[in-house]
Amino acid sequence: MARRPPPVGSGLKGRCPECGEGLLFAGFLRFAHGCEACGADFRDEDAGDGPTVFVIFIVGIFIIPMALAFQLITNAPTWLTLVIWTPIIILVCLGLLRLLRGVMFNLAWTHKAREIRNNQIRQNQKQTPPQ
Ligand SMILES: [Zn+2]
Repeated sequence: MARRPPPVGSGLKGRCPECGEGLLFAGFLRFAHGCEACGADFRDEDAGDGPTVFVIFIVGIFIIPMALAFQLITNAPTWLTLVIWTPIIILVCLGLLRLLRGVMFNLAWTHKAREIRNNQIRQNQKQTPPQ
C-alpha cells in the first residue's frame, strides 16, 4: 500500500486524502463522489460544520477589524467601506472555506473520523443488551 500524503498539504491542494493525486472537489465547494486516480469513495464522508466555524473565527478576528480600521483611518463614508470590503470579505470567506474543507476532510479521512449516522446508532442499541 502506498504511503498516504500529509493530510494538511493534500487538503490545501484539494487532493485525495488516500493517494494525493486525484481531485477532492467536483465543484468549487462540492466534494467529488470519489477519487479518479485511486478509486477512494468519498460519498459517505463530509467535513461537517468545522470549516465554517474556523472561517468565522479567522474572518471575525482578522478581516473585520481591517475593515473597521480602514474606515477609522481614512474617515471614509460607511457606504464606501461597505462597497470595498463586502466583496473582499465574501471572497476571503469562500477561499478559506474551500481550503479548510479540504484540510478537514483530509484530516477526518486520515484519522478515520466518521460521522455516526442514525441507523448505526440503532444498530448499536440493538446489539447492546439492556441492563
Ligand atoms: Zn485517490
